[in-house]
Amino acid sequence: MMFNPKITLREAAELLSSGKITSVELTQGFIDRINAVEPQIGALLAVDAELALAAAAESDARRAAGAPLSEYDGIPVTLKDNICAKGQQCSCASKILKDFVSPYDATVTTRLREAGFVLLGRANMDEFAMGSSCENSAYLKTKNPWDTERVPGGSSGGSAAVVAANESVIALGSDTGGSIRQPASFCGVVGLKPTYGRVSRSGLVAFASSLDQIGPIAKTVYDAAAMLDVIAGEDPMDCTSLPQEKESFAADLVEFEKLPRLDGVKIGLPEEYLSVEGVAPGVTAVFEQAKKIFTDLGAEFVSVSLPHTKYSMACYYIVAPAEASANLARFDGIRYGYRSPEAKSIDETYFMSRGEGFGMEVARRIMLGTYVLSSGYYDAYYLKAQKVRTLLRNDFVEAYKKCDLILTPVSPVPPFKFGEKSDPLQMYLSDIFTTALNLSGDCGISVPAGLDAETKMPVGIQLMAPAMAEKRLLRAARAFEIACPALDGTPAV
Ligand code: GLN
Repeated sequence: MMFNPKITLREAAELLSSGKITSVELTQGFIDRINAVEPQIGALLAVDAELALAAAAESDARRAAGAPLSEYDGIPVTLKDNICAKGQQCSCASKILKDFVSPYDATVTTRLREAGFVLLGRANMDEFAMGSSCENSAYLKTKNPWDTERVPGGSSGGSAAVVAANESVIALGSDTGGSIRQPASFCGVVGLKPTYGRVSRSGLVAFASSLDQIGPIAKTVYDAAAMLDVIAGEDPMDCTSLPQEKESFAADLVEFEKLPRLDGVKIGLPEEYLSVEGVAPGVTAVFEQAKKIFTDLGAEFVSVSLPHTKYSMACYYIVAPAEASANLARFDGIRYGYRSPEAKSIDETYFMSRGEGFGMEVARRIMLGTYVLSSGYYDAYYLKAQKVRTLLRNDFVEAYKKCDLILTPVSPVPPFKFGEKSDPLQMYLSDIFTTALNLSGDCGISVPAGLDAETKMPVGIQLMAPAMAEKRLLRAARAFEIACPALDGTPAV
């Protein structure tokens, strides 16, 4: 059977189980595809073809013996370079973790291996997941597969670009303030941020521990649901992971697809999000068209208020750097990664290794974080931000008394050009619609919804739902995906 790199997870599972394709063929197909398009895209920091082909051969042997580990046994997957896989690099796109090899698997990696997935490649990202364009990577400039002069978004830009450029069936990213949803929107693919605690963070290099969550970046909503089935679950290795029933989101969608309607579903439109200034006309146009699709599907719109929205960016940019400054203290030139060769004393080892090892944005966040946590400023900034976080969370609790889901844009602007947002504050503003969800801990998804008329670049919509309401979220996203015309246009590769 001819290998088609556009293959979805769902199709790959079917072809493998019917014997129409082997894992080795699938894996080799993606290796060839990677070799062909990586020179233009630059989404991967490392590919271990040999290891992947060996894993694929083992998978084929299991299938031949009639004992696949799961329906996904033998399907290649790409991990963001902040998720540990034993024996593979985990650089977080930082110089300070150059040559660092994970001594153990993240829990999600274990779950992938237990389901038979083939680990193929480490996706580029903003250094330590700080950024919205992938421009903060210490190693590589990842280009948007729709237009290589534009950014893929960030921080999981490599994960979104590999899926959009058909270099991978599916990928995992991490989302601290929008880093799955925004790059998914920029690359015209699906990005799911699960409820905080739904997926274990054990083995995810921590940025801001109370906000970080791993999730899938996929070609379809179904694929994202199927991947969530694989990676979700309570984990004794992560004390913030949640007890949860074992449910299959993918199986639920198969049922739902028989009648993919949203009659009786109430979708909240938050006044404060709709009055944000500086939203590009193309983003508004796609959003209005999306509303019409939801109405045609039978959903009803209600106006809701999230009155503390105006503080969400300020709150996020205090809480996230504060936690980052504590989490990144461990990178000291002694225990992990890079050590300055010039350092002559213990103090110099700390100063120079960190000074040379961290990029500008990471240094900025560490300084911000230590400042807001320092005695004298702690109450004024950090403690205040924690209180605001509770108010933001309560806004959502109140809003969900009136609606089942909330609909907003993902990013105020379509994918921008390299270097266009050189002012860090400008870059931070691209997170305006996404950070509140991490502060509240609820779940959300970005689904492709159309093209910006001016740039012809993809624009997504964001659906949000209460904590642990992924089933509801995925159903609505799937109904939308079925009803929305597929993005018209050809990626640059
Ligand atoms: N862009 C946001 C930031 O720079 C979000 C990052 C993320 O979700 N990891 O912090």
